[in-house]
Amino acid sequence: MRAKLLQENSFSEQFAEVVAGFGLDLRITPDGSRCPACNGLIRRVEKEKISDKVSANTLDSYDYFWICSNCGQVYWMGRMWRSMIRIVEEVKERLKKN
Ligand SMILES: [Zn+2]
Repeated sequence: MRAKLLQENSFSEQFAEVVAGFGLDLRITPDGSRCPACNGLIRRVEKEKISDKVSANTLDSYDYFWICSNCGQVYWMGRMWRSMIRIVEEVKERLKKN
């Protein structure tokens, strides 16, 4: 296991250091990702099939949903997702400047 001493302060600066230091790929796509809760494979699921698992408000607000094939956790591109995308975009900007 490789380790890296981080010099930067903010999260996105540290993240940029890690990405650059380890040559990581910054694409984010839920298809083929792993469930953060159980590490099961996440796959796209039709809205109708998860209508009993999320609130009516969420169902109305989003078109695309994913489900963990192991624990059944449902995911959508909500607030957490958007903040993750924002961090990734920040990191990409930082990497361009370096
Ligand atoms: Zn899971």
